[in-house]
Amino acid sequence: MEEKIRELLAGIVHPETGRDLASGGMIDSISADSERIVLTLRFAKTRDPFAAKLKNQAQELLSEAFPAAQVMVVVREGAPRRAEPANKTTTGGIGRVIAVASGKGGVGKSTVTANLAVALRNMGYRTGILDADIYGPSQPKMFGVEDYLPEAVHEEGIDQIVPAESMGISLMSIGFFIKPDDALLWRGAMAVNALKQLIHQTRWGRLDFLLADLPPGTGDIHLSIINELKIDTAVIVSTPQQVAVADVRRGVELFRNPQVNIPVAGIVENMAWFTPAELPDNRYYLFGKGGAREFAESHGVDFLGDIPIVQSIMEGSDGGRPASAIDPRVEEHYRDIAGKIVDKLTKTEE
Ligand code: ADP
Repeated sequence: MEEKIRELLAGIVHPETGRDLASGGMIDSISADSERIVLTLRFAKTRDPFAAKLKNQAQELLSEAFPAAQVMVVVREGAPRRAEPANKTTTGGIGRVIAVASGKGGVGKSTVTANLAVALRNMGYRTGILDADIYGPSQPKMFGVEDYLPEAVHEEGIDQIVPAESMGISLMSIGFFIKPDDALLWRGAMAVNALKQLIHQTRWGRLDFLLADLPPGTGDIHLSIINELKIDTAVIVSTPQQVAVADVRRGVELFRNPQVNIPVAGIVENMAWFTPAELPDNRYYLFGKGGAREFAESHGVDFLGDIPIVQSIMEGSDGGRPASAIDPRVEEHYRDIAGKIVDKLTKTEE
């Protein structure tokens, strides 16, 4: 199918350069099955005046050729961040990768990741989580699969690691390979090598979205992950009292660095207000109100939404079932944010 798509795209010519999309290197990635085709086109020039036109042509051509599939064409600008790895990897079947980051630990990044994954699954998307938080891998616990022992299989010419499955979500975690007490020893090359292996050798199969739970902060480990994993967008999580702090700004800047060049989908304000279980309609803004919105506005970042402090969110994470899988009122917050992220990823970029 991919070959057929490339063949079709070879028929579309860039009016200025005279090169066709295929041989001119404008195809960044193709992910295709009978239901869905996601094509990313890349134009070396920023604001290429022909980008929108070529995108529409590709969209029309593919929709016509594959009437049963939902066709999504996205445009990116600038030279590719890196060449596709020469070695075989298992990331080819993944539609989009969403990185979830935070300036500091403890703000609820992993909880947001887990609940967004459940919301995306509830929206009908095939979803996976890569828990790359080497300092505190908490996804196995949140999904109740702490005892999972990943099995290795040899398929399609590579050794692959089978992810855990919980609630229809594929989960691979660095936590399956290290004891929590050893996490601090896992800095540097060892952690990077292990993460590389998880990124390239996990048997993800076909996923619409892979959520990557990044370690907190902005260190070398982030750059290594960014180099290995083709991240489509980043979501930054903060609490109200942390939002004005330099760590959050550094988080945004990390992705915006011209060498990195990953779009920031926006910021999520977690623990934005307190809602006691017995008074689910009351809101107490314990740590101040509106900080994330202001931060977003002043830094040119979108505000994706806020999530209250709810007892069931904490209990869900501790109990092996994210609250979004149990409580529809809670799920609504995450679904709203997930919807915005999906819209951004699928929206026409002009
Ligand atoms: P991080 O990944 O940023 O280190 P976690 O996701 O592990 O943070 O969250 C830290 C703690 O806060 C956990 O105990 C989690 O259950 C709790 N928590 C996170 N978000 C909420 C929330 N919205 N309401 C209540 N508890 C929360």
